[in-house]
Amino acid sequence: MGKSPDSLLLVVSGPSGSGKNTLINFILESRENVSHSVSATTRPPRGKEQNGVDYYFLTFEEFGKLADEGGFFEFDEYRENRYGTLKSDVVRRLEAGNNVVLDLTVPGAVNLKKEFGDKAKAVFIFPPSMKILKERLVARASDSDETIKKRMRFAHESEIDKYGEFDYVIYNDVLEDSKNAILSIYDSLTSCDRKAKKTAEKYKLANSREFAENLVKKLREEADEI
Ligand code: 5GP
Repeated sequence: MGKSPDSLLLVVSGPSGSGKNTLINFILESRENVSHSVSATTRPPRGKEQNGVDYYFLTFEEFGKLADEGGFFEFDEYRENRYGTLKSDVVRRLEAGNNVVLDLTVPGAVNLKKEFGDKAKAVFIFPPSMKILKERLVARASDSDETIKKRMRFAHESEIDKYGEFDYVIYNDVLEDSKNAILSIYDSLTSCDRKAKKTAEKYKLANSREFAENLVKKLREEADEI
């Protein structure tokens, strides 16, 4: 599948509670011609969420049918529901000349990279610490203790070591620094801004491997202590 040569497909992912939503919203607030892809999900709408705006809310049957028809670039399961990147939605945005930002589970991001290769850029967001990750999940008050334990285990056993399949890594410790990082990455990929390119270099996987390896070790040790 090709994409309009000038448009960017930017995937932002990380464990639940890593702060990826805040960083995505910051890009959307700070830049024009960029939109958030609207995924399909089987989970019911929350609060003021609207069909076609926040998600396309589908039944399991509708989702399964669309998956069989090849309507998704990737799909994944999260908290007993299904989430999928709709080909139709992403292609429409790219063809309208927009850059597209996607907020995906870690396995979803890895699968999207497999589909698009270097045509999509993926950013992995590391949580500041396992303790803060847990605090954020608790503060959301949407999960039982058992689910929080499951998410924490999943984060440290299956998610944090997938950073090696991403193009950039951000350690979301100081929010202002992370905002600066994500915007530099975005600008470096969509403009000729030299300062942004220089800053973004620091966050490229190739330049962060040692840092990321040590971070994973630290997060693992913290997880063992919780
Ligand atoms: P929520 O139910 O809180 O809106 O989203 C739950 C999780 O689903 C988030 O981690 C979000 O990144 C992920 N998600 C949303 N849309 C998609 C999608 O199309 N594909 C995948 N793989 N994950 C998604």
